[in-house]
Amino acid sequence: MAAQLRGVVAMDGPSGTGKTTVARTLADRFGAGYLDTGAMYRAITLAALRSEVDVSDPDAVTAAAKAAELTVGTAPNVPVALLDGDDVAAEIRGEVVTSSVSAVAAVPAVRDLLVGMQRRIIERVLAERGGIVVEGRDIGTVVAPDAPLKIFLTASADVRAARRLAQDTAAGREANHVDVLRSVDRRDRLDSTRATNPMRPAADAVELDTSDLGIGGVVSSLCELAEQRGMVAERGVTP
Ligand code: C5P
Repeated sequence: MAAQLRGVVAMDGPSGTGKTTVARTLADRFGAGYLDTGAMYRAITLAALRSEVDVSDPDAVTAAAKAAELTVGTAPNVPVALLDGDDVAAEIRGEVVTSSVSAVAAVPAVRDLLVGMQRRIIERVLAERGGIVVEGRDIGTVVAPDAPLKIFLTASADVRAARRLAQDTAAGREANHVDVLRSVDRRDRLDSTRATNPMRPAADAVELDTSDLGIGGVVSSLCELAEQRGMVAERGVTP
């Protein structure tokens, strides 16, 4: 009988730690939904850039965020991100958005808006599918503080830069190790030092270093943790 996740797995950590692959694999294995909150901050950043707003102006960024119509998918294998009806899933991964997203994500009103949307999506998916894996920077601390399983993934700066470089190259974006390392470091510094909802592990998060563990090892550890916490049921059976 197939296994089904019940409840929320909150997955936080800096970029390049394997969060997305791990979160999607876990959600897929357990027939659960998946929410990429980073894609939401990226799409709002793109909205601000498209309306030619100065991303260091919080009021202008907030107005652009409020005017944007954002849709994100929750199926683990089909990344959907629509901005005003446009498919922006690829564009939001590019360097232009990546270099501005931390400034946009530091604006308190933008966070308020997106945290509200994220909580509503989580509620809907829990009602529909019973379980969801949510990835971001503040899921365990702010978005879903009652999640029964909170994970904080880490990896050495070199490993994170190497992973980002491989992703960029695979997606046809030009990049080199030194620039990617610098960009990853800068973003993580901004994300962990902002005043509102900085990236940090929740007090009750399990920290896992993915540098040597590989994705398969991390997923196995998480499956075990979810089972130990009583979050895994047989599909179709309500515990
Ligand atoms: O996960 P990803 O690298 O796509 O996230 C892009 C950016 O979005 C992060 O660097 C961070 O500034 C912001 N973010 C955030 N809170 C989240 C998810 C992402 O501030 N929950």
